[in-house]
Amino acid sequence: MATWNKNDALVEVWRTWGETEANIVQGLLESSGVECAIQGESTRLTHGFTLDGLAEVRILVREEDRERALETIAEAGHMTECPDCGQPAGTDDRACRFCRAPLAVR
Ligand SMILES: [Zn+2]
Repeated sequence: MATWNKNDALVEVWRTWGETEANIVQGLLESSGVECAIQGESTRLTHGFTLDGLAEVRILVREEDRERALETIAEAGHMTECPDCGQPAGTDDRACRFCRAPLAVR
């Protein structure tokens, strides 16, 4: 388990709606030495599910690890970058997870 200092500034590097994908990304990050924290709706709400039945999960890393984390996800082919907001987007996504801009399907 990652050990967090409460002064660590955490930034979101990935957002997903499935625990499976969150676990894949977590594994990727940990294998390249980036500690990450998973923050899910279901951890703080009893009925932590969105209307489509999937809990939203956020993956957080220390600010200083952000670049390495994004590179790791990109190298694994999971990620492209939103042309509008520059946030990471999944290669299969049709819309940006952050700003909702439509993404070209490749
Ligand atoms: Zn965007």
